Amino acid sequence: MTAGLQDAYGRAITYLRISLTDRCDFRCVYCMSESMQFLPRHDLLSFEEIVAVVRALIPAGLRKVRLTGGEPLLRRDLPELVQTLAALPGLQELALTTNGSQLARWATPLHRAGLNSLNISLDSLQAERFHRLTRSGQLADVLAGIAAAAALPWARRRLNALILRGRNDDEIVALAEFAEAQGFDMAYIEEMPLGQIEEHDRALQQVPSTEILATLEQAWGKLTPLAWGSGGPARYFQRPGARQRIGLISPHSHNFCDDCNRVRLTAEGRLLLCLGQEDALDLRAVLRQQGEAAVLPAVQQALQRKPAGHTFNLEQPVQLRRHMNMTGG
Ligand code: SAM
Ligand code: SF4
Repeated sequence: MTAGLQDAYGRAITYLRISLTDRCDFRCVYCMSESMQFLPRHDLLSFEEIVAVVRALIPAGLRKVRLTGGEPLLRRDLPELVQTLAALPGLQELALTTNGSQLARWATPLHRAGLNSLNISLDSLQAERFHRLTRSGQLADVLAGIAAAAALPWARRRLNALILRGRNDDEIVALAEFAEAQGFDMAYIEEMPLGQIEEHDRALQQVPSTEILATLEQAWGKLTPLAWGSGGPARYFQRPGARQRIGLISPHSHNFCDDCNRVRLTAEGRLLLCLGQEDALDLRAVLRQQGEAAVLPAVQQALQRKPAGHTFNLEQPVQLRRHMNMTGG
């Protein structure tokens, strides 16, 4: 057994995404169904357990952690977790993905606690449309959150949009220009078939990244591909002369599995070896039955089962019953 975090295909795993809760104050149409059953709170990993997992994996090469969900800001005392994780020697990047609804209040405490990278999801700049896409979100709250975050010096900050045909594909350029004005990079995510949703046919509303790039280039002229990467699945481009980077996350049109460097920890402590497959290690059981010392060998062993890649196929929309809020997007 190697001392590091390598899978059977020679990929080094340096990046862990942690879903802090499956709950959310939004019900985005592509992420959740309207009626969801959430985990009982005692099934969630405690902050101590989350810290134990991260601490156990850093000596083997873990360098980046992203806190996500569900909506991570619904976990009470989040700055305390951030502060503890940020103080762990060897962790280079501590990131958060949020819907921004409560960020106006929490941006400064989180930054002060040591969070250094922030992604905020924003699918529309039109209040009514935003409300329809999120089934409950108030655009004004999110814009206030973005403004609060924009005032702080993050190492990296990005807005994420998921574009659906006929719903927000007319805002591709406007979203990027808004992000640029606020000092954020912009990324566009292709929808993935995770969990049963009732709102739309995922295959029909998919807008491929190639089309998004073409729309941006029509507005701005040719974009330059960047060699730079954020350590995640996005491919980046830039307008000549602009500061902003444009990221495309393209599970369908540009498969990113070959250089996958990440695994995901669900809110109840299952370590998912691949976003698009069900196989997982029950790390909560390992922790609760055998303790922190058992975490690294269990993960090293499980990584040997990490598949070569996802097998998403939009023609068969319900391949995984697990929704994105469980998965930790
Ligand atoms: N609640 C936070 C938020 O919305 O940013 C964090 C969790 S959310 C699951 C993280 C990201 O996953 C969001 O940017 C969202 O757009 C994306 N997402 C949700 N469902 C998805 C799906 N089916 N396919 C692709 N991305 C999805
Ligand atoms: Fe909540 Fe984020 Fe899923 Fe929207 S994408 S329902 S904000 S977890």
